Formats: sequence, structure tokens, C-alpha cells
Amino acid sequence: MNINILGCYGNIIGEYHSTAFLINDSILLDAGTVTEALNENQLKKIKQIIVTHTHIDHIKGIFPFVDELVMLGDYSVDLISVKQVLEIISQDLFNNRIWPDLTMIPSEKKAILKLREIQLEKTTQIDSLNIKPILMTHTVYTVGYVVREADRGFMFTADTGPTKRFWEVAREEKGIEFIIADVSFPNRLEKFAKISGHMTLSMLLEHLDRYELNDRPIYITHMKPIFKDEILGELKKAKRKNIKPLDQGATITI
Ligand SMILES: [Zn+2]
Ligand SMILES: [Zn+2]
Repeated sequence: MNINILGCYGNIIGEYHSTAFLINDSILLDAGTVTEALNENQLKKIKQIIVTHTHIDHIKGIFPFVDELVMLGDYSVDLISVKQVLEIISQDLFNNRIWPDLTMIPSEKKAILKLREIQLEKTTQIDSLNIKPILMTHTVYTVGYVVREADRGFMFTADTGPTKRFWEVAREEKGIEFIIADVSFPNRLEKFAKISGHMTLSMLLEHLDRYELNDRPIYITHMKPIFKDEILGELKKAKRKNIKPLDQGATITI
């Protein structure tokens, strides 16, 4: 499996892009950054978009992407998530007010955008991948994911505050090569992190201790660009070789 990190920051400032991971050239996991990072030929290959939640920094790339698909002609894309997330997408976004209802254009059957519902904690096959959504703790309904191809995979917390089930699943799952985990704020802003449904590095370390996951490779993601240096300084001080920042533009192969 190839995972191309199109964006991995908690805000969009200059060269810092928001969350989107392109898997095997054809499946997006979140769509915070799409047309900014990919050319026409790469866009044509995307057939599925798996969504964690409806915050704009995770879905804003869908709008220019589907607009481009309309221009390119005979293309369609599946938008995949749990019911609660898809409901917000259809009611609040593709509602003919914020953006045209592309689930009905040109017709319901041939629509450019097809909503595909998956079930919490049930494994669903998407091409060569198996994905399993897990309920997270955020300010809006949010799922993290276990993503596998054959017997190897990774997990992604999406945006989350302190949570239990995800880390329990991380302990149970076999063949997980790494976990991508939200660390949005520096330690001094723990209160703000909790209010906004995010994590600091010390909160993440507490979870790894509590669930005995200290040996797992972790990539931290969703740093607010303004706090990047401060968070990286904290990471250096923590002296944890298994924890690294996710590298925007990099491709991870497992
Ligand atoms: Zn969010
Ligand atoms: Zn976010």
C-alpha cells in the first residue's frame, strides 16, 4: 500500500495543507487537499473518498474536485463514511445552497457523487483495502479508521480528543505498521485542546502509556502550523524514537 500525504496540518497557511492521504493513487482518506496537490491525470484516477468527519479542513477539497470531474466528463466518485457523517454532507453541504447537489446530477443513478454508507466497527472492502471506522471523541460526529491491505495496515485517529475505543482497537489489531495520531496543540494549551476535541503530545503519551502502546510507530498529524516548532521541540525533549511528525508530500509504503 502506498500512502501519499497530500496534507497533514490543522490549518491552511502558505505551504501547509490540511488533511488528505491518497492511497494507491485512487482512494482518498479525507479530502482537505486535493486539486492543490494533484494534476488532472492524478485526479481522474480517484474513485473513492473516505471521510472521517465534516469539518471543512477535511472535506473542502471535494468541492473543486467534483467541479473538475464535471468538466472532465464521464466521471463519478464514491463518498464513503458512516451514516451520521453522510447525513451532514447531504443536508449541510451538497444542498443546492452551499454547493449544487451533485448526488442528483446529472441524475440520481448516474450522479457524479455517490454516497456510500459503511457501518461503525464493521470491515468494508474498498478495492484492495479493508477499512473499519471507529467512533472518536471530537466536537462533531467523527470516525477514525483501521485501513488494511491484505495482512498489513495502519490506523488513523482523525481529529480526536481523549478517547478509549480507538486505543483498545489499536491493541487488538494485528499487523498495524503505524498509527497516525492527532497532536494539534502544544502541551501548555491542553485545556484548549480538550475543548476543541484535539490532543497535545503529553495527552498522546498518556494514552500510549495507559494502553501499553509505547512500542508502536506513531506519526503525529494535524499540528497547527503556528505551533509546529513548539510541538516539534516538545517531541525532541520527549525522546521517543517511535514518534515522528507526518511529512507532507511524502509517500509511505507498507
Ligand atoms: Zn475536526
Ligand atoms: Zn481538522
